[in-house]
Amino acid sequence: MSNDKNSAAPVPASNFLRNIVEADLAAGTHQRDGLPPVITRFPPEPNGYLHIGHAKSICVNFGIARDYQGRCHLRFDDTNPTKEEQEYVDTIIDSVQWLGFSWTQPGDQGDQEYLHYASDYFDQLYAMAEYLITAGYAYVDSQSPEEMAANRGNFGAVGKNSPFRNRPREESLQMFRDMKAGKYKDGEHILRAKISEDAMASPNMNMRDPAIYRIRHAHHHRTGDAWCIYPMYDYTHPISDALENISHSICTLEFQDHRPFYDWLLETLSAGGFFKQPVPKQYEFARLNLTYVVTSKRKLRQLVDEKIVTGWDDPRMPTIVGLRRRGYTPEAIQLFCERIGVSKSDGWIDYGVLEGAVREDLDPKAPRGIAVLRPLKLIIDNFDASASVECSSPVHPHHPELGNRTFPITREVWIEEEDFMEVPSKGFFRLYPPQGEQPGSKVRLKYGYVVECTGFDKDANGKVVAVHCNYFPDSKSGTDGANNYKVKGNIHWVSVAAALQAEVRLYDRLFTEAQPDAGGKDFMAALNPNALETVTAYLEPGMKDAVADQRFQFERHGYFVADRIDSQPGKPVFNRIVTLKDSWGSAK
Ligand code: ATP
Ligand code: MG
Repeated sequence: MSNDKNSAAPVPASNFLRNIVEADLAAGTHQRDGLPPVITRFPPEPNGYLHIGHAKSICVNFGIARDYQGRCHLRFDDTNPTKEEQEYVDTIIDSVQWLGFSWTQPGDQGDQEYLHYASDYFDQLYAMAEYLITAGYAYVDSQSPEEMAANRGNFGAVGKNSPFRNRPREESLQMFRDMKAGKYKDGEHILRAKISEDAMASPNMNMRDPAIYRIRHAHHHRTGDAWCIYPMYDYTHPISDALENISHSICTLEFQDHRPFYDWLLETLSAGGFFKQPVPKQYEFARLNLTYVVTSKRKLRQLVDEKIVTGWDDPRMPTIVGLRRRGYTPEAIQLFCERIGVSKSDGWIDYGVLEGAVREDLDPKAPRGIAVLRPLKLIIDNFDASASVECSSPVHPHHPELGNRTFPITREVWIEEEDFMEVPSKGFFRLYPPQGEQPGSKVRLKYGYVVECTGFDKDANGKVVAVHCNYFPDSKSGTDGANNYKVKGNIHWVSVAAALQAEVRLYDRLFTEAQPDAGGKDFMAALNPNALETVTAYLEPGMKDAVADQRFQFERHGYFVADRIDSQPGKPVFNRIVTLKDSWGSAK
């Protein structure tokens, strides 16, 4: 992994966070010996898989570090032992790297990894808690959780001081040590901050003697059974930031009300000489809400647990692993994040913006291919049954240097069902049989010959099972004769004899409502029953060489990827990444 991996992004537009960083750079706010003036971090809790909202946070944090010659740390906020697992740590590491970012920086002694865990700071966090107790800024509270909740008050009512609030410091310290030593049960005592004498009357609930340590006799995925007390998020986060010399601690708006405690804690501990100055500053931006998507780990987990999807990496999931399997590229996701920008107020981004980004990324680079998704047999009656004529087409229309692909035409070819109509509707220029005195339509089999429709066969149920036509031998694409034929219809096809039969998964949006979980709505009621349709398709024969994660544009259909899990050598399975045009809401 090298640092220049972080430089592959589109040129970033300015936004309020970048303005803050630039002003700080100009003023030298975070000038510290031996440290870059901009250090950011991305701090996931390893309790689930990352989703598209996290991708935004990753792009913001790593992007700013990249663009202002700083660095960005990946830090696991792993202070809740009961919900966290190594599996999540591994997938998060993988997802951030896949998105194209790196926490490795060249240093004096070779490459330096800025991969951190809040649990690495447990000793320091503990020592600082003892300091706060000794300095009169924290006390052990022995109220029951119910009493504590009742005495906290609410937005309209001030809280009540705990009867333990004035417990002597020495007593709190001894009890805190006993908490650590495992002398108490879960919930029996808790360590709380005492910010000021009248903190329980603060209009900000987060300032009303917030809990900073609690008892949890639980196994931690990294520290094992070494601890039975664990620091709270609001306590751990600012301290971790300060220990890592973060300059700009960027998070989402819901943490705005936590900022006063963040600042108070770092200031108070600075007086104890714990940190390099200046301490980090927190800035908030609006989280990403994407239409037709839910981005809450809890809700995503419910989709997995209830087997609505096949797993976290189901191509319908807005997780990074899901988007990856669906065929999204890191470049497309970065482009999307760049395009939606950063703002200070909540809003919804249209899912079409994400789809537009992947189309834009793939159009210039995806090789073209042909796939017939809903096959109907076309029989060219005047074509020699044993003949096979090679046809060719560019791998990419704008990249002649990529050369041509070839595929044969034979007497029977697969065409799309929708390219034939027994009785053509107005403006239908594809295949239809003679209508009374009128001859059947003439169309070009793209890259092949012009054919004229002569008839069709139906089965006992009246379903059209084959279409008949004759071809014009002098009409082959790329030959002089081709120009003598002017036809309005142009359809794609693959030879029945040569086609590769393949499973193709046509994915669509997972929800039918734009804001499936807005206002506490039951998002499960808005599931799209047609979010996955699996078809047996016929592909041009060269597709047998497609390897996992290889992407194509199937002409007229959209962008597809060879599924990274289910594809086998010679037997790819394809996922539709996105259609060619935004057809959502219109008849498809
Ligand atoms: P979730 O609500 O899905 O569980 P979270 O915020 O609890 O997400 P964390 O692991 O704590 O998940 O998030 C890591 C970082 O990603 C945080 O800084 C958080 O603010 C940011 N983040 C999470 N969701 C979004 C989002 N939708 N848009 C932007 N940033 C987000
Ligand atoms: Mg969180």
